[in-house]
Amino acid sequence: MVFLNGQFIPEKQAFVSICDRGFQLGDGIYEVIRCYQGRPFRLGDHIERLFQSAQAIRLELPYGRDELAGFVNRLIADVTWDYADIYIQVTRGGAPRVHEFPAQIHPTVLMYVSRGQAVSPITLEQGIEAIIIPDTRGTLCNIKSVNLLPNVLARQAAAEAGAGEALFEREGIGVVEGAASNIFAVRKGVLSTGPLSPYTLPGVTRDCVLQLAKAQGLPVELEFLSREELLTADEVFITSTSKEVLAVTILAGQMIGDGRPGPITLKLASDYRSLVKRECGI
Ligand code: PMP
Repeated sequence: MVFLNGQFIPEKQAFVSICDRGFQLGDGIYEVIRCYQGRPFRLGDHIERLFQSAQAIRLELPYGRDELAGFVNRLIADVTWDYADIYIQVTRGGAPRVHEFPAQIHPTVLMYVSRGQAVSPITLEQGIEAIIIPDTRGTLCNIKSVNLLPNVLARQAAAEAGAGEALFEREGIGVVEGAASNIFAVRKGVLSTGPLSPYTLPGVTRDCVLQLAKAQGLPVELEFLSREELLTADEVFITSTSKEVLAVTILAGQMIGDGRPGPITLKLASDYRSLVKRECGI
């Protein structure tokens, strides 16, 4: 079943207009929420970010936070998979194509659940390879919008290079984030990640990791690192809803540290797992 505009219907009956502005103009936002054994992790944080994205594009959501959470919970009520992902997309709606906001328009709200996949134990143990590419995006990266063309091209470039992620390097700023992840580095025992800015998504996983680091008493600096600073870091890892905390052991063709996930990365990954277990029971 999928949720479309207030109704729970079979996927085969769920249709969106060809005039939908999400389809024609990329005028929409989204969220991805991981569910562990049918329990959504940090649902409140994801819904809050959806509201922030909506506000940033001046779109008024037709449901309140609690109502939306109720729909999500109904959608996953029968899910028995260990890992599942809820996808929520809200667009400004369907109307004859003009760039400015049409006067009479109702948002399209879609939600569905798909089977999620845990990162394999071997990948967790070895870490992944990442490439670095120029950031061709603008300054709305804090909005989780469906305009993902640069991210799609970045991930394709990574896939063609046999890498698991592409990191965006922005001129004069540093390496800001991954195509679908935030970046962290450890240098001389200090954890760093970029500050909240128009160049990065405020990741829900990033926020959890910062809280876990604080609880451990780990020194943290919110700063973008240059390519050179990242390449000479002791540890580099990425965070995201689906990848959780995942070491980057080869970056731009160079080994990070000794080429294996470092102790701080592994500790934060294990703390994150414990947090999921506490909150979702898996
Ligand atoms: N940055 C970008 C560009 C992303 O697409 C994602 C994945 N949603 C993230 C960061 C990580 O965010 P989160 O931890 O909330 O999944």
